Amino acid sequence: MNIHNQQEILWLYIVVPINNNNIEPLKAEMCVPGNAKIYEFSKKHNIFYAKTGKLIIAENEKEAEFIAGLYKRSLENGVPGVEILDKTDVKRLEPNIDAYCALYAPETGIVDSVELARKLYQLAEENNACFAFGNKVIAIEPMSDAFKVTLETTDRHETCEIMANTIINAAGLYFDEITKLLDPDSPYEAKASKNKWSIFEPVNDGLRIKTNIYPIPCAVSDIQKLDLSFTEYERHIQECIAIRSLGVHLTPTVQGAISIGPMVIKGSGKDDFGLNDNSESLQRFLCSVSSFFPNLALDDIKSYQIGNQVKILEKERIHPDFLIKRYEKYPNFINVVGDSPGLTCVFPIAGYVAKLF
Ligand SMILES: Cc1cc2nc3c(=O)[nH]c(=O)nc-3n(C[C@H](O)[C@H](O)[C@H](O)COP(=O)(O)OP(=O)(O)OC[C@H]3O[C@@H](n4cnc5c(N)ncnc54)[C@H](O)[C@@H]3O)c2cc1C
Repeated sequence: MNIHNQQEILWLYIVVPINNNNIEPLKAEMCVPGNAKIYEFSKKHNIFYAKTGKLIIAENEKEAEFIAGLYKRSLENGVPGVEILDKTDVKRLEPNIDAYCALYAPETGIVDSVELARKLYQLAEENNACFAFGNKVIAIEPMSDAFKVTLETTDRHETCEIMANTIINAAGLYFDEITKLLDPDSPYEAKASKNKWSIFEPVNDGLRIKTNIYPIPCAVSDIQKLDLSFTEYERHIQECIAIRSLGVHLTPTVQGAISIGPMVIKGSGKDDFGLNDNSESLQRFLCSVSSFFPNLALDDIKSYQIGNQVKILEKERIHPDFLIKRYEKYPNFINVVGDSPGLTCVFPIAGYVAKLF
């Protein structure tokens, strides 16, 4: 995972169209069962999680109409327990949040993603999966009925070869480079979207929140929102005029602090995890949440972490959904790649891939 933290939000997907204009069918289909499965798995294996719930805040009457569109879509997508809360109900739930009204999704939560990955690794090993950490795939050669894969150790640059009947390419941000090892004319490209988070400690009651708090998911940048109705917004996403952005949001962390992000910042490539620390960027974090979270001050915030999200391009066009597909030229080579909410959907993704065999 291209992120340096210990916890991750579990999304409940509520924005995705599921009808004829379907652009993110896998995300729409997998998010709700994925979310439930992670809670079940975490409970069974004593991994920390919390159902914090999620509020998407409307700040005025126009945004309230947007919330009504989101609400309808979330019902179509089978999101459990969603409701629209008025100003008073929001205050009752979150006294420090100012809202005109809000959409409430009680099943959203956080999980210790490192422990989750560790447990999956342990279970896989117990079931005879073999891991080759510290090795990089540097070549793939198609043979008549298999692939010859060349690995190189990252420390001593020693190579070895293995034969594989099927390859599942789950190399995240680097999936395009792996595909190009097999086919230099591959139509795929992976771009990194550099995301930055800041954090604050809720040192007084005025800074406390217990829910994940989001603006309406309609931002062109961290601060500026698109002035669109919900229907226009969905059309923008479908026609790739706009990229879906969740907007800068507040998330209680596993350690009891509250993170603010993600803020999309300019990066120099897939391996750029530099924090680019400056007070101007902290000011941007403050500006992006102060209208609904007014008690926060600049002095409360410090820089936290960087994460690079994968953005998939297929023939230079954005592929907004997970990419889980056999490669046309070599059907036994299967790409499995996706951005958020890939963690939430980890179990349905595994089931889907298993059915491809
Ligand atoms: C900033 C950020 C925030 C996110 N927020 C959320 C969220 O709130 N909720 C949610 O559900 N999801 C979220 N996600 C998405 C989720 O983390 C990803 O979808 C998921 O981690 C992708 O997993 P993956 O296994 O496909 O890729 P990765 O976790 O990137 O794993 C790819 C692996 O391939 C290996 N690799 C690459 N190249 C080679 C090579 N040549 N040879 C050998 N190995 C190679 C890498 O070392 C790495 O181990 C977020 C992601 C980011 C970056």
